[in-house]
Amino acid sequence: NGSYDVGRVREDFPILGMQIHGKPLVYLDNAASAQKPKAVLNRLTQAYTSEYANVHRGLHYLANAATEGYEGAREKVAGFLNAGRSDEIVFTRGATEAINLVAQTFGRERIGPGDEIVLSIMEHHANIVPWHFLRERQGAVIKWAPVDEDGNFLIDEFEKLLTDRTKMVAITQMSNVLGTVVPVKEVVRIAHARGIPVLVDGAQSSVHLDVDVRDIDCDFYVITGHKLYGPTGIGALYGKHEHLSAMPPFNGGGEMIREVHRDYVTYGEPPHRFEAGTPPIVQAIGLGAAIDYINSIGKSRIRSHENSLLAYAQDRLREINSLRIIGTAAEKGAIVSFEMKSAHAHDFATVIDRAGIAVRAGTHCAMPLLERFGVTATCRASFALYNTHDEVDVLARALAKAQEFFA
Ligand code: PMP
Repeated sequence: NGSYDVGRVREDFPILGMQIHGKPLVYLDNAASAQKPKAVLNRLTQAYTSEYANVHRGLHYLANAATEGYEGAREKVAGFLNAGRSDEIVFTRGATEAINLVAQTFGRERIGPGDEIVLSIMEHHANIVPWHFLRERQGAVIKWAPVDEDGNFLIDEFEKLLTDRTKMVAITQMSNVLGTVVPVKEVVRIAHARGIPVLVDGAQSSVHLDVDVRDIDCDFYVITGHKLYGPTGIGALYGKHEHLSAMPPFNGGGEMIREVHRDYVTYGEPPHRFEAGTPPIVQAIGLGAAIDYINSIGKSRIRSHENSLLAYAQDRLREINSLRIIGTAAEKGAIVSFEMKSAHAHDFATVIDRAGIAVRAGTHCAMPLLERFGVTATCRASFALYNTHDEVDVLARALAKAQEFFA
């Protein structure tokens, strides 16, 4: 996309001007957490400086301003996901809490001994462990949808796993290790044909792909703010109204109740039923600003820039001796995991840090997936809207140099 001015975009991110060990920062750890534009940082300051109080129960000016900001952010998230109504958006601390919320309310009510939960082998631990809780505590059975050697999701194999005991499908829309994009709309269609609800983990995909929860027709969709150029401590759960309104509460406390008496309690309507206590008010407002920022650039322009970075990175890394890229699926986002024969992923990450490069090394909270590929760790370079082709060159040169050193 010729009109994409990455230099201009980079100016929006103050941290990108840093020098690390005397070298310009090359930040390629975006799948773990993305950096924040001035628009978000300024919005946070503004909210704390002139719009701050607790939300919902106040009758004073600042309480109203904070409530407007917080509820306005909910509208922005609803728009971002194309939800039909903003009360289908529950604010959480992140994707992890959103998935735990669904597992512990919706899941625990419906899933008993011998009932099956289908996950993909690519799931992040955030979309595994909450279901393991149901295995441990309710006697549920977890089944794993496979990927092939290139990391392609195998939809026919997935379909074969569904039985009349399947009570839930929980699946990522984009692997945080391989970058594989899962055809979630197709997954939902297949599951719904058997009456099985589907949770989609959009922690990675929502940053890179257009998301339309009504088109996907998923029952639940989760996002996390810090990967979307927003603050930490904020995420969101989209849930179909018919589900949210029937679900029991998750955490108990203020804000989520209708009445509390000595011998009984009644609960509020969604989304407040699921937002016990003082919520992450300013973080939500910051997430709203991040969504505005992304929209101001445009997801499709961001995506074509990132796709071009991905293609270039894969070409450059393939030139390096004994480097093996893990995950070359046909549908793939801007994440490259690789293994180097001559040394451990941690050693490579540590060495290239000296060149100012930030990548992640390890299991990326996806141990079943690494087991599937027979590796104990990978290095991962993950790209964002502000990365450049020059940075790919810096990475490739640093890896080649480290490779010579270790060999
Ligand atoms: N799912 C995926 C695919 C992720 O990549 C992550 C974050 N690495 C999560 C869930 C969890 O997000 P958070 O830690 O923000 O709750």
